[in-house]
Amino acid sequence: MFNAILVDKGEGGYVASLAAVEDARLPEGDVTVRITYSTVNYKDGLLMTGRIPLISHFPMVPGIDFAGTVEASDHPDWKPGDAVLVNGYGLGERHWGGLAQRARVKGDWLVPLPAAFTPRQAMAVGTAGYAAMLCVMTLERHGIEPADGDILVTGASGGVGSIAIALLSGLGYRVVAATGRPQEADYLKALGAAELIDRATLASPGEPMQAERWAGAIDTAGSHTLVNVAAQVRYGGAIAATGLAQGLDLPATVLPFILRNLALYGVDSVNAPMALRREAWSRLARDLDAARLESMVREIRLSEVIGMAPEILAGRVRGRLVVDVGN
Ligand code: NDP
Repeated sequence: MFNAILVDKGEGGYVASLAAVEDARLPEGDVTVRITYSTVNYKDGLLMTGRIPLISHFPMVPGIDFAGTVEASDHPDWKPGDAVLVNGYGLGERHWGGLAQRARVKGDWLVPLPAAFTPRQAMAVGTAGYAAMLCVMTLERHGIEPADGDILVTGASGGVGSIAIALLSGLGYRVVAATGRPQEADYLKALGAAELIDRATLASPGEPMQAERWAGAIDTAGSHTLVNVAAQVRYGGAIAATGLAQGLDLPATVLPFILRNLALYGVDSVNAPMALRREAWSRLARDLDAARLESMVREIRLSEVIGMAPEILAGRVRGRLVVDVGN
C-alpha cells in the first residue's frame, strides 16, 4: 500500500482525496519509482479542481512531476537505486502522476537526477523551473544578450516567474518583474529583479503598438497581459510564452509582429524532446543559484496538498511548493 492523492469525478465536478492505494493498482510501465519529493505546480491546481477539465480517466493520481529512487525496472537504462526525476508526458492527466509515494512509468520518460541537485531541490525546480529554463534558452536562441536591454518577466512571484528571474539575473540580464504583489518586492529583488512594475498596467486592453521597453519577455499570463507585452517589446525582440494565469485568450493584432519584427515563441514542457530536457536540466544545475532556489521553497506534506490547489490557482502561492511525500 502507498499513500496518494486520488481525483475522482463527482456530481459537482472533480473531487480530490488522500487515500491508501494498493500497489496492484499502479498503471502499466517498465519502471517503478519510490517517490521522495513532488511539487504543486499551477497545472496540478487545475488537475485537482477540474477548473480546466484535463483528466482522461478516473480515478487519477495528479502530479505532473516527481523525484525519487528506482525500485524495480525492466528498462535497460534503469536499475534499482537509480535517482531519477520526470515531468510532463501526461503525468497526472493520462497517466498516474507524482502526488503519491509510488509511481510506475515508462523508463523512456525518466531523466537522471542531476548530481548538483538533491531530490528536494529538483522538485523545488520542478516543472515550473524547467519551463522557466526552456524560456530562457528560447530567448538565448533568438540571440538576445544582456547588453540588448531589459527582460520582462510576468507572473513574477509564481513558480515559473521566480525561477526565470533568478536564472536571467544570474546570467547577467537586467530583469523587470511584473507582479500583482508589491508586498513581495524584497523577495523579488533578492531573486535578482532590478525593478518591479504593477501587473495591472498590463491586464486590460491597450494600444496595439506602445513605447518600446523590453529586449525580450517571458510571459506566464497570456490574454491581455501577453498582448500588451507584445506591444512593448523592441524591434527584433522576442517573447517566450508559456502560461495562462490571466487567461487562454490572445486578443491581439498582427501589428507588433509585422512592424517590429517581433517573434512569439510558445514554450511547452510536457512533450519536449529528451535531448532538450537533458540540456535544460544540466543548464539548471549550472545556472541556478542554490540559495535563491531555497528562498522560493515552502515545504508541505501530502496531506496539505489538496488545500493548496485553490490557493495556487488564485495566485496566492509564492515561489515553489515542495511536497515531502513521506509525510
Ligand atoms: P504560479 O501560480 O506559481 O504563478 C502564477 C503567477 O501568475 C502568480 O503567482 C501571479 O504572480 C500571476 N498571476 C496570477 N493571476 C494573474 C492574472 N490574472 N493576471 C496576471 N498574472 C497573474 O504558477 P506557475 O508559475 O507554476 O505557472 C505559471 C503559468 O505557466 C501557468 O499558467 C502554468 O500552467 C504555465 N506553465 C506552463 C508550462 C508549459 O509547459 N507550457 C510549464 C509550467 C507552467 P504575481 O502575484 O507576482 O502577479
